[in-house]
Amino acid sequence: MDRDQLKQYLEFYRDLGVKSVFVDQAQAPLAAAPQPSVTPPPPVRASTPPPPRVEIPALRPTPQPDMSRSTEPPKLFPSDFPVSPDNDTLVKIREDMGDCQRCRLCKGRKTIVFGSGNEHARLVFVGEGPGADEDEQGLPFVGRAGQLLTQMIDNTAGKEGFSIRRPDVYICNVVKCRPPENRTPETDEMEICGQFLSRQLMVMKPRAICALGGTAAKALLGTKEGITKMRGKWHMWREIPVMPTYHPSYLLRPTSGQVAKREAWEDLKKVLHYVYDDPPRPLSDF
Ligand code: URA
Repeated sequence: MDRDQLKQYLEFYRDLGVKSVFVDQAQAPLAAAPQPSVTPPPPVRASTPPPPRVEIPALRPTPQPDMSRSTEPPKLFPSDFPVSPDNDTLVKIREDMGDCQRCRLCKGRKTIVFGSGNEHARLVFVGEGPGADEDEQGLPFVGRAGQLLTQMIDNTAGKEGFSIRRPDVYICNVVKCRPPENRTPETDEMEICGQFLSRQLMVMKPRAICALGGTAAKALLGTKEGITKMRGKWHMWREIPVMPTYHPSYLLRPTSGQVAKREAWEDLKKVLHYVYDDPPRPLSDF
């Protein structure tokens, strides 16, 4: 990246209200350029305390992973899928997961990353799966991508006049355990873990879901379309509107370009206005 590109890149984040950027050690040649300040991640509190032990009936026999590497979109929520047990809660769902060994991802994980934020949130963000920082801390989106997500939510909401900040929304992932080397989760892993995501979404019944990246969008919507085609348009998961947008990790790559960054910002603005405008306006307005 030359100086002009770097300038453009930093200006875009300044426009978003982002005050800190993060520099990879691998980007050593940039060391000669003016260095942005690096701040530690803001503390994020888990909103789900360790659940008390509750006996609840199994949802359905746990599907066994077939070890094939399929490229089919996951069938996260087939029509025979039970919606959720009566009186389901996030605490019960976490309790049901227990010390989950249902798929191979359990082998490499340190922590199950269930989700965090406001359990009564009107907006839920769904990412792909935990990375190293999330696995370490047991919280979603706390690494570099998470810090960008926090800044995007806080700054965009602030600029649009909403008093919404990251702790007011709920954030979780399609798979709750870190895939080795941060690889994309396999179809069967997403299908197995999807039962918990499905229950989380059914319990919270948010006004909208923002799917972060192609993997989350495909998992929720069961489509093979790429994120570039899906983003910016409303889709439906059950009766909940879903807005797919670019994953913050993608936006952090210098190669993702200004257009993608602007588009992600537009997508987020659309979601925030649909969810928080008062009085509410119909989806067709957005
Ligand atoms: N990427 C994700 O998709 N989820 C996280 O929690 C962190 C990074």
